[in-house]
Amino acid sequence: MAPYLDADADELLDITRACFDRYHEKFEEPYPFDSYDQAFVPEFNAGAMENPGLVTFRDEFVYRSAVTDTERQTRAMVVAHEMAHMWFGDLVTLTWWDDIWLNESFAEYMGYQTLTEATRFTDTWTDFGVTRKPWGYDADQRPSTHPVAPENVQDTASALLNFDGISYAKGASALRQLVAWLGEKDFLAGINTHFRRHRFGNARLADFIDSLASATERDVHAWADAWLRTTGVDTLTASVDSRPGQWTLALDRTGERPHRVTVGVYDRDLHDGRSLLLRERYETDVPQDTAPEPHTGTRPALVVPNDLDLTYAKIRLDDTSLETVLRGLSGIPDTLTRAVVWNTLRDMVRDGELAPADHLATAAAHLPEETDLALVQGVLAFASVHIADRYLTPDQRPAALATLTELCRDLIRRTEDGDHPGLRLIAVRHRIDTAAHPDAIAAWLAEGIVPGGPELDPELRWRVLARLAVLGATDEAAIAAELARDPSATGQEGAARCRAALPDEDAKARAWDAMFGSDDRADLSNYLFTATAQGFWQPEQADLVRPYVARYFKDAVAVAARRGPAIAEAAGRWAFPVHAVDAETLKLGEKCLRKADPIPALRRKLVDQLDDLGRALRVQQA
Ligand SMILES: [Zn+2]
Repeated sequence: MAPYLDADADELLDITRACFDRYHEKFEEPYPFDSYDQAFVPEFNAGAMENPGLVTFRDEFVYRSAVTDTERQTRAMVVAHEMAHMWFGDLVTLTWWDDIWLNESFAEYMGYQTLTEATRFTDTWTDFGVTRKPWGYDADQRPSTHPVAPENVQDTASALLNFDGISYAKGASALRQLVAWLGEKDFLAGINTHFRRHRFGNARLADFIDSLASATERDVHAWADAWLRTTGVDTLTASVDSRPGQWTLALDRTGERPHRVTVGVYDRDLHDGRSLLLRERYETDVPQDTAPEPHTGTRPALVVPNDLDLTYAKIRLDDTSLETVLRGLSGIPDTLTRAVVWNTLRDMVRDGELAPADHLATAAAHLPEETDLALVQGVLAFASVHIADRYLTPDQRPAALATLTELCRDLIRRTEDGDHPGLRLIAVRHRIDTAAHPDAIAAWLAEGIVPGGPELDPELRWRVLARLAVLGATDEAAIAAELARDPSATGQEGAARCRAALPDEDAKARAWDAMFGSDDRADLSNYLFTATAQGFWQPEQADLVRPYVARYFKDAVAVAARRGPAIAEAAGRWAFPVHAVDAETLKLGEKCLRKADPIPALRRKLVDQLDDLGRALRVQQA
């Protein structure tokens, strides 16, 4: 791996220095340890770990193959996040596990914010909006949700479950809202008081709130009760009333939290029918103390509550605005606004208020015009993983895949000039993953290049081979030959994924035995277990794998009990039959939860998977 690490050393060290300097401008307490090292560790289970003075990372952050700039930004964000823990976690440590948000929400917020302020990655909140916030929104609507700062975490097994979308994404969103509500100056003053009072000691929520309260006149105790001690997502629904020469926006709220939001008001560009122009932005509180004031002017084409994504809430647009975005989403000028709108469409699908096919049609119409990598990646992932594979019925899936393939072809055509390699890479990856026929991608593999580029690096070669395996267009000999060509750790994972994906009974039996067999001398490592699970279930092979759906619930419980939380999580996340969206799977899963007593790490994953399954069934019925 050394040459790959060397190739990125300057980038990594530049980001490290820039974040270090920025934290020293924000925090009055200096870095509290003697040295700062960063090590990349094979088969690391977490993203990274903030050991004082020695941060350890997954070694996938050392790139052997081409990555997009958004992926580089994610790595930089992890560098910034872990460094923030030197203060939040290592200088001041939580007293008990109910306050892991004092570590994770802060490191998450500081990581994104500091990267934006101190490095070339100046648009991190768009990526946060489109990839991290949905993690929080989804977690917050499941039965397993909990307050950002829960009051009763009994033991370490329960604590481990809370390293989740609530403690990271919702917590960081709440802090972003706190900064909007309080002002950054008072927020940082409160934090510095907190460090000064509790340095090299332990602290809890009440201590943090007291430190904040010392820096502001605002009632932060009430704010904390509403935001940190409650569960669920508020919904802000816009309605626009207009009469000649004036219009009025009302924002209705379901939920109990106070929100400080920015409203964006847009008009159609009369010269270029496609674009939308920002007329004005203004801040407002929800709920409002008084009736909303009318604005002078014509009714806007689009009104976006939470335009700068400063709060955490589901947004519902007024009817005119919804129509405007379905037709003109790519004409919205700012990426962060587009992220808010894409999230609105996403959760409308999840709530049964927008047909999945309409979301797909919107993606097909607007993604080819999109230039932001995080948005293209986030929307394409939702469209393929959620919409095509789960929210549409199996007989609707081929048409959805055809739409996605055409969309990727369109993006590949538009990036032929070589100016947007990241966009092209995303399109190539998704073109491979959604291929319904092997011919085109098999030719790429044979030639070693996508026509017009890029050349296939190890990651793309394994990706093509995995898709060919799903489609029954390759065999063991080809997989073995590829492994001889790339015998690295990721090569081993690629081969395991391909072998598990082959559409024949023997291959499935071998893969199943590798994951769930009881001979502990043959146990797969955590990464190989995950790779095998990723290959195993394929919507194309529903008939072939059907007998394993019932076996899964029995075998996952046994392997989790025998091998512990890390494998339990992989078994719950990756080995779960997500494509089997039917009442029978739901029934089997519910029975497992009632009778089989899975260990906590597996139970949490199963509860979440079954809730997602129930939601997919409701979306299909809607
Ligand atoms: Zn962390």
